[in-house]
Amino acid sequence: EYVNLNEFLAYIINRFDMMIHSDEENAAESGAPKKHYVIKRDFTSQDIWQEIDTDKMTQVIDNLMNNAIKYSPDGGTITVRLFRSREHVLISIADQGLGIPRADLAKVFDRFYRVDKARSRQQGGTGLGLAISKEIVEAHRGRIWVNSTEGKGSTFYISLPYEAYDPGGDWDDETV
Ligand code: ATP
Ligand code: MG
Repeated sequence: EYVNLNEFLAYIINRFDMMIHSDEENAAESGAPKKHYVIKRDFTSQDIWQEIDTDKMTQVIDNLMNNAIKYSPDGGTITVRLFRSREHVLISIADQGLGIPRADLAKVFDRFYRVDKARSRQQGGTGLGLAISKEIVEAHRGRIWVNSTEGKGSTFYISLPYEAYDPGGDWDDETV
């Protein structure tokens, strides 16, 4: 399905923005610790149209956002960027969280791999999120990778091959 990636991403992020508020209400009732975070958007002003499987790519962005929140202390900023070059669309999700040790960087996309099992177990999850994300991105002929500094934060990147949207022959070039 062809979607405007700017709108697609904004829609997902707005959902996370709303979760901050509903979580605060729930936390007030249950006494559970609440986690604050701020999401910054840095999107190109150009509209980027791209053919994607929206359900599957939503799953990828949800997992990266959930990880950014889960593996960050309270009060972190998550920055979501969207831009493109001539041949690629690039999406990045950066957090100011725990970071990933250098030795684990290549392994976090493996099935069931979790950094520091004791720490991760408390936080819940299966260690499948990134493995599934990688499969989905690669099914879109894209790539996913991460840069991280332990104790400072992580940035996950997704690149997709960009193909200029061609609506076909029904359009009159002079009126578009
Ligand atoms: P789930 O299956 O619920 O997603 P998970 O979050 O543990 O479980 P993945 O999303 O595959 O699994 O992540 C694998 C591991 O990579 C995590 O357990 C965590 O150790 C590390 N990790 C992932 N994202 C981050 C991040 N943003 N900051 C720090 N560590 C991360
Ligand atoms: Mg996860």
